[in-house]
Amino acid sequence: MSVFNYEKDTDGIVTITMDMTGPVNSMNDEFLPALSAAVERLTQESGLIGVIFASAKKTFFAGGNLHSLLAAEPGMEQKFFEGIEAVKREFRTLELMPVPIVAAINGAALGGGYEICLACNHRIAYKHKSVQLGLPEVGLGLLPGGGGVVRLTNLLGIEKALPYLLEGKKVTPEKAVAAGMIDETVDKLEDLVPKAKAYILASQGDEASSVQPWDAKDFRIPGGKINSPKNAQMAMMAPAMLRQKTRGLLPAPEVILDTAFQATLVDFDTAQRVESRGLTQLVMTPQAKNMISTFFFGLNKVNGGASRPKNIEKNLTRKVGILGAGMMGQGIAYVSAMAGIEVVLKDISHDAAEAGKAYSEKLLQKQVSRRRMDEAKAQAILGLITPTANDEDLQGCDLIIEAVFENIQLKNKITAATEKYLSDDGFWGSNTSTLPITQLAEGSARPENFIGIHFFSPVDKMPLVEIICGEKTSDEALAKAFDYTMQIRKTPIVVNDSLAFFTSRTFGTYLDEGGRILTEGCHPVKLDNLGQALGMPVGPLAVQDETSLELSRKAMETWEEMGVLDQWGEGDNNRRIIKDMITDNGRGGRHHGGGYYEYPENGEKYIWPGLYDLYYDESKTFDDEDIKDRLLFRQVIETLKCLETNVLRTVADGNIGSIMGIGAPIWTGGFLQFVNTYGLQKFIDRCGELEAEFGQRFACPQIVKDKLAANELFI
Ligand code: NAD
Repeated sequence: MSVFNYEKDTDGIVTITMDMTGPVNSMNDEFLPALSAAVERLTQESGLIGVIFASAKKTFFAGGNLHSLLAAEPGMEQKFFEGIEAVKREFRTLELMPVPIVAAINGAALGGGYEICLACNHRIAYKHKSVQLGLPEVGLGLLPGGGGVVRLTNLLGIEKALPYLLEGKKVTPEKAVAAGMIDETVDKLEDLVPKAKAYILASQGDEASSVQPWDAKDFRIPGGKINSPKNAQMAMMAPAMLRQKTRGLLPAPEVILDTAFQATLVDFDTAQRVESRGLTQLVMTPQAKNMISTFFFGLNKVNGGASRPKNIEKNLTRKVGILGAGMMGQGIAYVSAMAGIEVVLKDISHDAAEAGKAYSEKLLQKQVSRRRMDEAKAQAILGLITPTANDEDLQGCDLIIEAVFENIQLKNKITAATEKYLSDDGFWGSNTSTLPITQLAEGSARPENFIGIHFFSPVDKMPLVEIICGEKTSDEALAKAFDYTMQIRKTPIVVNDSLAFFTSRTFGTYLDEGGRILTEGCHPVKLDNLGQALGMPVGPLAVQDETSLELSRKAMETWEEMGVLDQWGEGDNNRRIIKDMITDNGRGGRHHGGGYYEYPENGEKYIWPGLYDLYYDESKTFDDEDIKDRLLFRQVIETLKCLETNVLRTVADGNIGSIMGIGAPIWTGGFLQFVNTYGLQKFIDRCGELEAEFGQRFACPQIVKDKLAANELFI
């Protein structure tokens, strides 16, 4: 029996219900044979008046087969190209049939799923929040190669199609109707196929209903061709704007833009060939491999609970106590209340706690004014937050998270004073960003219930939470922290205790290396520009200004007390910078009146002129590639060390954590995945060169050599 269930009714309508092996329909090995057989049978039908494509799964169709896309290697181009063309041929035969083909979209139709819909003449979707439509391939370094670029461009016109193609925007059925991506919706799922049948019956005798817009006589692409005078500005600006956004590091959007432009110029079938070639080119790139590995497989592993202890029942946090209503505490209160959790927000005074709650009110009002939420819902969420200055109000919390000042004595004191208010099976989380969890847990009577729950600033925007296990943290506490993080809709990575954990420690190497390059005499603008050219969100100097040099000074003092700064080899240069910048010149960072940059009230920031006097040496030359590699390799090496010493428990956590928590360049797929496509031997060699020229901190960690010897990758 085929995985495409073929049924013809007495009216002459064939319904093809896709029901592939496994939980979803996708373009796996079953797909092409099933599609070909169905299309072949349709072409032989007599008395056929229409065809419906439907799904027996919860989603309509899930898209491409990412395993086979990952396996495609240079040298396999021709075979890959032919594979795409074979699918396209079936879609083309289908849409050229003289009867209307209707997509009955019961669930998500993304990527290949929406491409099937585009090859149909009419698209009807179930109006439900689980139904999303779009072409998200760009997010995996690919293009929609099953006709997606060409058909969407022909359907909507280049200007309207571009956001869906270049940003991978996903939309609800209502928005899809408004955008012209589908034709209509039904309110009830059971009305979907009957509505499709009614459409076919009503279309009888109407020849146009079986002709795609681009196959109609006198078809003109909406908005005109890209070389029409009306589009001249877009043709000129779009590539430049794109380049500015991707910094030339991501080939997919560039190939998509080119394909979409060409789709307006050449005939439909030629455009399809261009599109197939584009996908063939992209699928072989390291960027696509990196992005598929991390943003699909890695993220699924992380969110699927690979780092959550097994066989522990799922825990629901109902009431959370948050100590400290400062920058972090108020954000944690907001995301918790948004997830329907009761929040007790405590600070040293009632006013301070109220001010923390006001932060949530501000964010909620913004949503109301943008019509993303109604007033009643906003009030209900706000009503979940109780500001207080009384410890007793913490009674019965399932979880208490402390986010008070970064001070061990204070944190220990608070733990001792308030952990008794936790419910019997409650647990304790510290939002410390630098202090060892094991040491903080010494302040607790139940260290097994003590765990690090490290949020990133701003909490409402940053998608990651780094969970840190101390020496005595139990699996139960870890499972609970993991579940809480999922409950507030964040992505949890799990790491073992180590000073500065994984994210802060690795991020610190970016700042440290930037500081070294600066004091060696490099022009500060060049340095920051190269950080960005590498794909980091901002250069090392600009980012240190944001997180503040003051904070670096405090962290340095703590590490100095612990005697680890010199052990890390990060002492001398940092001491010099802190002395020059803060002690001698009062340059503590953006929120301390300026740091490496000046921040004029009504103008763009610019480098603080004193910085040139301190370090800039005109006589020295710096190689761009060396600077970029130094900034990148330091972070990659630190991540490898974290894996080697078990601070990182999984590769997926390292990749997702580096992308979402540190801002690792998207094209790398994270700091560990980067090594896979860079090539292990090549990585070892380049580390050797950097070590010889710049110092021992570039020594390649043994784990890379071990992996190479075992012929394995970091997965
Ligand atoms: P903050 O100074 O903005 O807020 C700290 C709050 O704690 C203040 O409102 C203070 O009044 C309150 N507080 C002090 N003693 C208290 C007590 N005994 N009981 C109740 N409240 C008390 O600091 P922040 O930036 O929100 O940082 C808080 C914690 O989060 C620190 O441990 C910090 O390392 C960590 N953290 C900060 C960031 C960041 O980017 N700022 C990121 C991750 C983690």
